[in-house]
Amino acid sequence: MEETCLFCRIVAGSIPARLAHEDDETLAFHDIDPRAPVHVLIVPRRHIAAVDRLGEPDAALMGKLMLVARHLARELGVADSGYRLVINNGADAGQSVDHIHMHLLGGRPLKWPPG
Ligand code: 5GP
Ligand code: ZN
Repeated sequence: MEETCLFCRIVAGSIPARLAHEDDETLAFHDIDPRAPVHVLIVPRRHIAAVDRLGEPDAALMGKLMLVARHLARELGVADSGYRLVINNGADAGQSVDHIHMHLLGGRPLKWPPG
């Protein structure tokens, strides 16, 4: 837990969020500024700042984030229409919260390439 980290505080419950899923290792909540009809953020409970900080022991955890995304895509009704998973890393990608998070975006056609 990083006291100054927004998503650590959401994980701890000290900042409210509209939850979509929780388990022992991950939490998923709806983005406060959704860019698509479905826009959920999936985060590990444990603080990891960015993809660039990942190590070999984090491999299973990152796989789990993807499985949670798959589960939520089904539950939120975008599995068949399609969806995108995005992890921004660093300034050029526009990462604005330094706690690794996977965006699940769907419910409308998404342009490619993004931004
Ligand atoms: P990034 O730009 O770092 O990839 O994504 C950060 C995301 O967090 C943005 O889509 C932003 O809207 C979302 N966000 C920022 N603050 C909050 C908050 O307090 N609650 C929720 N639910 N989402 C947030
Ligand atoms: Zn954190």
